[in-house]
Amino acid sequence: MTTSHVETSRGEVAPSTPLESIPRLVDEVRERFDSGITRSLDWRLRQLDAIGRFVEERESEILAALRADLGKPEMEAYGAEVSYVANDVAHTKKHLRAWMKAEKVSSPLVVQPGQSYVVREPLGVALIISPWNYPFQLLMAPLVAAIAAGNCAILKPSEVAPATSALIGKWIPKYLDGCVKVVEGGVPETTRLLEQRFDHIFYTGNGKVARVIMAAAAKHLTPTTLELGGKSPCIVDASADLDVAAKRIVWGKFFNAGQTCVAPDYVLVEESVHDALLNRMVATVRSFYGDDPQRSADFARVVNERHLARLVKLLDGQTIACGGQHDAKDRYLAPTILRDVSPDSAVMQEEIFGPILPVIAVPHVDAAITFVTRRDKPLALYVFSQRETVQAKVRDRTSAGGMAINHVWLHLAVPELPFGGVGESGMGAYHGKHGFETFSHRKSVLKKPTQIDPPLLYPPYTETKAKWVKRLL
Ligand code: NAD
Repeated sequence: MTTSHVETSRGEVAPSTPLESIPRLVDEVRERFDSGITRSLDWRLRQLDAIGRFVEERESEILAALRADLGKPEMEAYGAEVSYVANDVAHTKKHLRAWMKAEKVSSPLVVQPGQSYVVREPLGVALIISPWNYPFQLLMAPLVAAIAAGNCAILKPSEVAPATSALIGKWIPKYLDGCVKVVEGGVPETTRLLEQRFDHIFYTGNGKVARVIMAAAAKHLTPTTLELGGKSPCIVDASADLDVAAKRIVWGKFFNAGQTCVAPDYVLVEESVHDALLNRMVATVRSFYGDDPQRSADFARVVNERHLARLVKLLDGQTIACGGQHDAKDRYLAPTILRDVSPDSAVMQEEIFGPILPVIAVPHVDAAITFVTRRDKPLALYVFSQRETVQAKVRDRTSAGGMAINHVWLHLAVPELPFGGVGESGMGAYHGKHGFETFSHRKSVLKKPTQIDPPLLYPPYTETKAKWVKRLL
């Protein structure tokens, strides 16, 4: 279906779907849904198998696309995208039969005799819109959940990652049946899509566009899941194991060159250990990426020149503890750690989403908690501390989509944990069964026999009936 192209901010050519074909595509998918084909366990498992085959058979193409779009080191692309989706498919296949089972609940006296239960029914046609930073995984994982729940779907990959978008556009129609279609392109194509009626919109991206999505969804009263970002803080107290903290923070921050929605955005460290942590983090950067990270095969690139220019501007007036070098032609910005950062500076006003890590000293953990709670609720929050009381205090006095204690973002690798934001970082969640639930409607069912039909509820409402009703209710 992809027949035209749009120019990306990198001057590259990203594929796009002709605008006039979009309403018809959505209609075709809806017809498929209405045929009832997607409801059976068998169909769902076959489509999940097909996704599994796609990932396995096209692995080298997927890795190459991610390398082209983001310079992703193979290990990062494999771990966070390819194997993530493969594991998601395996986990979903293993549990799907159980997730689909009707859930019995008890029936109160007033409806006896009778049986009450909840069935999960598919919502219908889902629109899944994904961003560029994990352009494969963030499209495929919601698709796995949508299919598991028996839905049809339209996929809208990010035009900012054109190689991955083209790969999805090429292979999805070959592996999956017509219940899933791909619409490629940017704002005009997404705008046209949003004019159509969907039964669920699953959007991953930034808060500004999320408002456009919600406004469009309101027109059709379409439920939305918004997987957004924000500034995810990392709090380090004086009791923390600083060697381990430095390694984990540097790894989690500079993975994918900092373009991870749950990357630690900034560090709040107790001032008594500020220098010790900073020195360890600077040394860790060198031990991970060498003296010249531009030559390291293990460090990704900024997605495009526009984002690079935005990031470089954030360095204005800052004190650089390490890094800062950049090369526009290579879309390279060195892993950069900033010290003595003012909370009022530009770098602390917006989600950084790149390889820059501000470090701010705070007098104590309570000050760090106040710092965090005065700002928007983040997608993730991290605390490094050996003290249980501090861990619990940070957990209980802050709000965030999720958190990790003594690590960064590995909580995403636990399929039983819901992944989603709160407040400005989003609404709704997925991963594992939570994704299945997101794309399902929980339908209540009460089943009554007809052999017994006491007249209690029917008029005329006599005094005797009223007495009984009062007793039963
Ligand atoms: P992006 O620019 O690729 O945009 C995301 C999608 O929105 C794309 O498919 C794009 O075509 C579409 N879009 C853009 N402008 C639009 C408009 N005006 N109308 C309709 N659609 C439009 O990606 P991005 O938003 O720059 O992604 C980065 C953000 O996403 C960061 O804030 C990051 O934290 C967040 N993020 C969140 C998660 C999560 O799981 N919560 C994961 C990754 C990224």
